[in-house]
Amino acid sequence: AKRAGGGGLEVFSDWMLESALNHARLEMELHHALKDNAFHLEFQPLVDLHSGRPVRVEALARWDHPQRGAVSPADFIPVLEETGQILRLGSWVLENACMAAARWQRRHPELRSVGVSVNLSARQLAQPALVDQVAAVLSRSGLEPASLKLEVTETMLMDNPELSNLVLRRLKDLGVFLAIDDFGTGYSSLAYLQSFPIDTLKIDKSFVMGMTSDPGKFNIVKAVTALAHSLGLDVVAEGVEEQEQRIMLHAVGCEYAQGFLFARPVPEKDLAAQLGSLLRS
Ligand code: C2E
Ligand code: CA
Ligand code: CA
Ligand code: CA
Repeated sequence: AKRAGGGGLEVFSDWMLESALNHARLEMELHHALKDNAFHLEFQPLVDLHSGRPVRVEALARWDHPQRGAVSPADFIPVLEETGQILRLGSWVLENACMAAARWQRRHPELRSVGVSVNLSARQLAQPALVDQVAAVLSRSGLEPASLKLEVTETMLMDNPELSNLVLRRLKDLGVFLAIDDFGTGYSSLAYLQSFPIDTLKIDKSFVMGMTSDPGKFNIVKAVTALAHSLGLDVVAEGVEEQEQRIMLHAVGCEYAQGFLFARPVPEKDLAAQLGSLLRS
């Protein structure tokens, strides 16, 4: 579609016009969703590959959309990130994930050592107030710092390595654990990697999913695991859906796994039952 305006000619393809409208609508809907608290968290266990036992759970945001149902964060996190509203959602997630973890540890003696992982966004990491916020949430919830792990991506770290390093060090000083998420999809320099105070590398699911059929991907998983171990880090493989992947991951020495083979993300009310069945199996 072409539209002639007074000052000149604006050219929109139908696709651009449509996606601009959709984007504007999405932004507006998200604005209301934040005001109305139209989000909830689901929790997905991470298991020890050796014993099959759950060691922690990752909190994953869900948007309860009136028409579309639960919307995946992959579809709305980038929009919130763009507008800066991710800071509001990020605070909400941090608070609610820590409160939930404190509850399951208190209510279920067998889950006393099961901690929670929370995803951070680039804007959160770039905020010096993040450290005080994490400290405040820990004290409000009563959750032990060692029960909280924060996940950041390589891309976020490499955006501003010096500032990231500083913020991560202050977070470590609080006693929380740190993981690099989606490892392998960004470009982190090895020099930086060994300077960040990180505990864990999470291998992106794109490598794990292809590893049984693609020797290149298998070799990447093996090399990343070796790299992590040589830096004193432990390794989580994401997106484990098949028994064969589990066996191969265990064979290369990967410690932990997350994926539909073990457990899907569930709301808090179903978590104790799900973890209980993993503990018994
Ligand atoms: P992620 O941090 O890599 O989280 C893992 C994603 O993989 C989740 O998608 C999870 O449901 C999915 N997954 C787990 N196991 C399997 C499996 O076996 N197979 C497949 N195909 N997928 C699996 P989800 O919940 O849609 O989240 C997508 C991304 O959105 C997350 O990727 C994370 O980057 C982001 N995200 C989620 N919650 C938050 C949040 O609270 N804050 C921020 N900043 N980002 C979030
Ligand atoms: Ca994550
Ligand atoms: Ca990930
Ligand atoms: Ca991912």
